[in-house]
Amino acid sequence: LQRRAARSERLAAVGQLAAGLAHELRNPLASMSGSVELLAAQLEDPAAQRLFGIVLRESDRLNRLVTDFLGFAGTAPTNLGAVELASVAGEVLTLVGADPAAAGFARTAELEPASALADEGQVRQVVWNLVRNAVEASSSDGEIRVTTGTRKGQAFVRVEDRGAGIHPELLERIFDPFFTTKDRGTGLGLATVHRIVDGLGGHLEVDSVVGEGTRFTVVLPAFPQQVG
Ligand code: ADP
Ligand code: MG
Repeated sequence: LQRRAARSERLAAVGQLAAGLAHELRNPLASMSGSVELLAAQLEDPAAQRLFGIVLRESDRLNRLVTDFLGFAGTAPTNLGAVELASVAGEVLTLVGADPAAAGFARTAELEPASALADEGQVRQVVWNLVRNAVEASSSDGEIRVTTGTRKGQAFVRVEDRGAGIHPELLERIFDPFFTTKDRGTGLGLATVHRIVDGLGGHLEVDSVVGEGTRFTVVLPAFPQQVG
């Protein structure tokens, strides 16, 4: 047991170091992409413009990686309390509605009151990652349904899409850090979701049919805690 404790302390230390590094990368990255954007606007040579386009695209990719990694590294619940899943889910849906990539989407919300014992920032991160994936798996006229409620003394939030679905062979890999099937993915979204939900003492269910769609259900301890 002692050895295990030492190991997880060591892992936590490495995680902190990596998160510190990721944090430090953000500012220089932002200045670089800002400068390149300004420079690119002054170029007339198409070949040079193309090269600047590559620099911009790649710094965008680094930025996404750093942001997602920071989300992944900081997954210890710091602020446990009553979290109203319906209001968090409603907020995330509103945010997603403002995203041009999801402009043509039908968004359905069936939000029953459901209070979880959780960390609100973390729950927002979980729902945001699931909804982003649902948008990315769907065509431009996709349909996304978010449901919240209680079940057997637990609180749940469910995100469903009618997108591409997930091949059964891939199902066990989708939670691995850096596993992605997307050109511009980081593969850190579901790894983050998994770690957060584990840390909160909840669990995740996935149902997916290729060509029909995917449903992720996050089950969390209810607030107030059920006794017995
Ligand atoms: P990323 O979104 O950066 O690829 P994630 O960890 O969020 O990383 O997701 C990992 C992979 O799981 C995705 O690349 C995709 O193949 C699959 N996936 C996740 N959510 C869905 C979904 N709603 N529909 C279809 N595939 C999904
Ligand atoms: Mg994702």
